[in-house]
Amino acid sequence: MKPNICTIPITDLFSETDGCPICRMHRMLEEQYVEYITGAAMMAPDVRIITNKTGFCHRHFSMMVNNGPRLSNALLLQTHIDEQRKLVFPKKPDEPASKQNIAAIAELGKTCYVCDRIDHDVLHLLRTVYTQFAQDPEFRRQFAKQDYICLNHYSLIMTASQGNKKAMDKRKWSEFYEAVNTLSKKYMDTLYDDVTHFTTMYDYRNQGGDYKNSKDSIERAINFLTSYPVDPNLK
Ligand SMILES: [Zn+2]
Ligand SMILES: [Zn+2]
Repeated sequence: MKPNICTIPITDLFSETDGCPICRMHRMLEEQYVEYITGAAMMAPDVRIITNKTGFCHRHFSMMVNNGPRLSNALLLQTHIDEQRKLVFPKKPDEPASKQNIAAIAELGKTCYVCDRIDHDVLHLLRTVYTQFAQDPEFRRQFAKQDYICLNHYSLIMTASQGNKKAMDKRKWSEFYEAVNTLSKKYMDTLYDDVTHFTTMYDYRNQGGDYKNSKDSIERAINFLTSYPVDPNLK
C-alpha cells in the first residue's frame, strides 16, 4: 500500500508557522516514502521494478539505511546492483562500455524513487493549496502568517500556479501572488540585514556590541536558499 497523500492535511500543515510550509510538506512525504520503501513496498514487485532502475539519491539512501531494516536495504540493493550491472557493463572485460551505457550510468546519478514520488505528490498537494486559498478565508490568514516560503519553493509555487489557473479567479490570484511575494521578500530582506549585521560584528569598533538576531543568520540563510538545514554530519 502506497502512502496516501490525501491523508496529508494541508490545513494542519499550514496551522504551523515554523519555517517554509512546503519544506514541511516535503519532509512529511519524505518520511512516509522512506518508511514505505523499506517496509510495505518490500511486498510490491512493481515498485521494485522501478527502484531497480532509478535507485535513490544519497540523502534518501542515507535515510533508508538509518531508519529502515538492514535486510530490506540489502534486498533492495541486491536487485538494483544486479540490474545496473547487466545494463551498463559490456560483455567483454577488455572493452569500454558503449556511449549509451556510460550515459545510462550518468543518468542513474540523477534519479531517485523517493525524490520522484515527492515531486509528483508536492505538485498534487499544491493544487489543493491553490483551491484552499481560493475558498477558505481562514486558510488565507494562516498562509499569510507563515515564516517564509524558501527560494526553491517560491519558484515551484509560481511555476505550478501557471498550470492551475482555473483554481481561482484573477483577483484571488493577485492576492495569492502578493501573499507569496511578501513572505519570500520580507524574509530575504531580513536575512540580508542579519547576515550584514553579523559581518559588522567583526569590526573592532563593534566589539562587545549586540548581535541582535544575526547569530544564526548563516544557518538560516542556507536553509532558505537550499530548502535544507545545514547538515552537521558533513565535515
Ligand atoms: Zn521550502
Ligand atoms: Zn532522493
